[in-house]
Amino acid sequence: MFELQISNLNKTFQNVQALHQVNLEVSAGHMLAVLGPSGCGKTTLLRCIAGFEIPDSGEIRLGGKKVFGDGLNLPPEKRRVGYVPQEGALFPHITVAQNIAFGLPRREKRSKRIDEMLELVGLPGLGERMPHELSGGQQQRVALARALAPSPSLVLLDEPFSALDAGLRATLREDVKTALKEINATAVLVTHDQEEALSMADVIAVMRSGACIQTSDPVTLYKYPADIDVATFIGEATILEAAVCDGNIVECPLGDLLPVAETCLKNCDKAVIMIRPEQFVIGKPANGTVSGRVLKTTFFGHDSLVHLQLDDHLGGHEIQVRLLGTHHYQPGEPIGLKINGEVMAYPVMS
Ligand code: ADP
Ligand code: MG
Repeated sequence: MFELQISNLNKTFQNVQALHQVNLEVSAGHMLAVLGPSGCGKTTLLRCIAGFEIPDSGEIRLGGKKVFGDGLNLPPEKRRVGYVPQEGALFPHITVAQNIAFGLPRREKRSKRIDEMLELVGLPGLGERMPHELSGGQQQRVALARALAPSPSLVLLDEPFSALDAGLRATLREDVKTALKEINATAVLVTHDQEEALSMADVIAVMRSGACIQTSDPVTLYKYPADIDVATFIGEATILEAAVCDGNIVECPLGDLLPVAETCLKNCDKAVIMIRPEQFVIGKPANGTVSGRVLKTTFFGHDSLVHLQLDDHLGGHEIQVRLLGTHHYQPGEPIGLKINGEVMAYPVMS
């Protein structure tokens, strides 16, 4: 069953079209990541779902029930949606416990629920603290606890980790994912960080200029991006130009026999090829490899980039190959290059 269904949603501010014909569905218990650059409409989308913003047209359903569309517009408090806004999520002048209690009905056993929520987000016993007595990461956990306390049917998270440093962000991502799975929550996570989307979500919707460009599971999105912009936004990529004849790659710096994923190259005479860094395999020059030379190497700790130049008769292209851990390659060393798995090819219309 779909917990959230959005059809043909539009929203314009003055002359900015913040949302353009957005269609999305999220299954119950799943996390959807909405991924896109700053200004593409992510916050507007969340605010429309929560009921803080009125769309111009379209339809929103929660748990199968219409909450917006055809003249209907349920107010936020009737939508059972938990919202963790982008910034300043906590009320600064009341305790953590009072913050969490904020959305709870009066008669509910509040203190029991507060304790459960603090436990869930890994902060047992901190209810009497004031927000300023907590670290940034702890404050984000409390904001999540507050959103989850009234048992919403849908949780909306707007860039919840963007203000935290890298180490803390990674831990908190895992903890939030675990906490949400534990209560089988349905969630929409807004982020501009592709790693966050890939590592946390069941499904990712890529947004650009108010529109959803592609909605896929993380692996499909990474391997088969809809276009070259999605490809480069979602991860590192080497882009090479190639000639096309009768729908086939005929001239490519890496040879004509690249295993190309099924893509439509009809009606074009040029294509761009997208290869992920981990698809390159390098070794000694040998039959069946493309020959080149090491230009330099860059060490990052957990992995290294080896910068290669293909031989002149292959066009002299420069390519970066990512290798895990350390390696023995030296500048000037001849190498042979192979491709692991399928690559994507996109038509270039002239
Ligand atoms: P994101 O969250 O992806 O950064 P937003 O949804 O905040 O993007 O904004 C999308 C676009 O809509 C931007 O161009 C932004 O300037 C515009 N916008 C958002 N809210 C308003 C508003 N209240 N008034 C006018 N323009 C707005
Ligand atoms: Mg935003």
